[in-house]
Parts: sequence; structure tokens; C-alpha cells
Amino acid sequence: MRFATLTRQPDDPLLKIIGQHAADPRPDKIDLGVGVFRDEEGRTPVMTAVKAAEARLLETQASKSYLGPEGDTGFVQALGRIVIGDAVPSDRYVGLQTPGGTGALRLTAELLARAGVARIWIGSPSWANHAPIYRQAGVEPAMIPCYDLTSQTFDLEGFLAGLNGAAEGDAVLLHGCCHNPIGIDPDAAGWAAIAERVVAQKLIPVVDLAYQGLGDGFDSDAAGARAILAAVPEALLAYSCDKNFGLYRERTGALFAITPDADAGAVVLSNLLALARANWSMPPDHGAAIVRIILEDETLTAEWRDELETMRQRLESLRAMLAEGGRIGTVDLGAVAHGKGMFATLPLSPAQVEWLRDRHAIYMAGSGRINIAGFNVAAVGRFHDALRDMAA
Ligand code: PLP
Repeated sequence: MRFATLTRQPDDPLLKIIGQHAADPRPDKIDLGVGVFRDEEGRTPVMTAVKAAEARLLETQASKSYLGPEGDTGFVQALGRIVIGDAVPSDRYVGLQTPGGTGALRLTAELLARAGVARIWIGSPSWANHAPIYRQAGVEPAMIPCYDLTSQTFDLEGFLAGLNGAAEGDAVLLHGCCHNPIGIDPDAAGWAAIAERVVAQKLIPVVDLAYQGLGDGFDSDAAGARAILAAVPEALLAYSCDKNFGLYRERTGALFAITPDADAGAVVLSNLLALARANWSMPPDHGAAIVRIILEDETLTAEWRDELETMRQRLESLRAMLAEGGRIGTVDLGAVAHGKGMFATLPLSPAQVEWLRDRHAIYMAGSGRINIAGFNVAAVGRFHDALRDMAA
């Protein structure tokens, strides 16, 4: 009776919020909980470039035979070109397709463990899955508190001071852009300071890039990641196409490893392929095939980039609308406007989050994290009113 030794694990709090929101009969309820993009009507549509690529795939795909643990190599190469660009020469990096950004992160954790890395430093708060992924693979997460919710700022000095505790060969996790759950990224000088520190302390950077194109723009959003990758002999880049191609459930991502030279790259790739084989054997094909078809076709690429830019602008204009509320109680909505991407975390207590839900049908994570895409014009006004009601 080995199962009797297991203890019940807590339910995912966000899933609970989804259930509560679905059961709420109030017609003007607002869902700021789930982390998916939404349009003004609250839908998460399939992008038109994705639909077109799917139609082409349906027509042309001749076989569904196995590809291999590396997945779709055309997808990996095309992605490497637009993400890494010329920050690192192509003979200094290797890559493979993974089931989403999560699969890529899981492989970073297992590769680090296999390479004898004992610890990964992570700015806190971070995406809720980061620490469990590393812990489960035997790499201890060391959290560095470095965000101030009241002023909505990233504390670079605090982060660097936390890294003083790192030993040579430790890893450090960096959100490439559109930080989840805070929405605040280092500026160019901040990235340069982090790169300098990573080099000086001989740390291994793991860059998690899951929202490219939803912050300042497609290339600007990769600038921090590129500055880091260009500065170091060894690094890992976990990439998700699930948000910027709207592919969520297709689980589409890739992992790139930067190495000192091609020979080292071949050794790292052989280890990554072995780890992938022992985890999921081969990644699911559909999403990666769609991304490859888009990226190998100029017209589809232009169409996708236009749609992504429209999504980005929607997030930007919602932030500007939110900012018009100014300071309400403990919340400075003006500061929230400086953030990027889908998320912000408001300085609200769990009791205040619950009050907003019960009194005003506004749903957000217990931490105060909001999905900016969950708003529309009317909801922003209602949100301002609700915060004023709470502050009164
Ligand atoms: N990294 C961050 C920061 C995320 O927010 C997410 C998803 O929410 C992921 C990685 C994983 O993305 P995917 O859905 O592709 O596994």
C-alpha cells in the first residue's frame, strides 16, 4: 500500500478562481485571473496566420510518423534566427523543440542537475512554477526578493546584492521580458549590470522568454536576453511560442543552449536529447509545424507579426487607461502603466482581493496578480470604481 504514504497536495488556486468565476451569475463580472490573452470581447481567438498555416498543414502533411526527440528541426532553426538573431554565432548554440516553455524549463533543470549545478537564483516573486520545476529536478531554488509592489519597481541593487551569495557555477534565472507576475523588466542599463555580474561571478544564466512581442515590440523584447547570451560562454534559453502565437494547448516551445564552441554544443545537445527521450520521448508536432510554416513564409510572417503587434498595442492601451485612475488607496495605477506584457501585481492583501470578488465580481489571483488582457474599456471603469469603493 505505497500510495497510502502520499499526502494530498493543495489544489491550484488559479483553477479554483476559474471555477468561481464561471459559477458567478453577475453579468458584469471581470476575469483577471487566467494568464491568456483576450480581445475586447473577452475571447482568446486563434490567430489568422495560425489558421492559414493549419490549413496548409492539413493539405500538405503526408505522414504523422515519428520525428525524433529533437522535434521539428526547421522550427528550431527558424526560431533561433528570430530570437537569438546575431547575438551569438549559429555555431555557438544548439536547440531542440520542447512541449511548451514549461518543457524547456524542465530540461534546463535536468541538464543543470546533470552538470552538477546545485542551486539556481531566482528574483522573487516569480512565475509560480519556476521553483517547483528546479526543486523537483534537484536544483535548489534560492529566492531573492527584488520587487516593490507599491512603487511597481524592480530593485536591481537588491537583486545584485542577493547574487553576492552565489557560488561560481550556480545558475541564475532571468525573465527575458514581460515579467510574470510583476510586469516590470530591467532597463538596458540593468541588463548590462546583470550581464556584467553574471560574467564576473561565472554564473550560468537561464533566460525564460515566454512573451516576446507583447512588451515593447518583437526585437526590443529580446534585447535583454541577447545582451546576456552575448556576454557569456554558457547559457540556456527556454522559449515559449504559446502566448505570442496563441498556441497555448498545442504546447509549443524550444530550448537553446549557448556553448563555448560547436564541439561543446554537440555534447550538450546529446545530453538534452537523452533527457527529452526519458521525459516525453518526442514533443507534440502540431504547434511547431504551424510556427515553422509561418516563419518560412514571408506573407504569413508579416500577417502574424501584425496580429501580435495589435495584441501588444491592446495591452499598452489598457495599461494607459488603467493609469488614468491614478492613485486609489494603496494602489498607484499610474505606476502599473510602466509595466509590460500581460501581468501586473497590485499591492492588495488576500482579504482585499476577496472583497473585490465578493462585492464587485472582480476575479484575480490571491497574490493581487492581474491579467491586463482581462480588461476591456467598460471593465477598466468598473475596476476604478471598485478600488475607490474599497478605499472609501
Ligand atoms: N515562463 C513563464 C514566465 C510563464 O509565465 C509561462 C506560462 O505561463 C511559461 C514559462 C510556460 O509557458 P508554456 O505554456 O509554453 O509552457
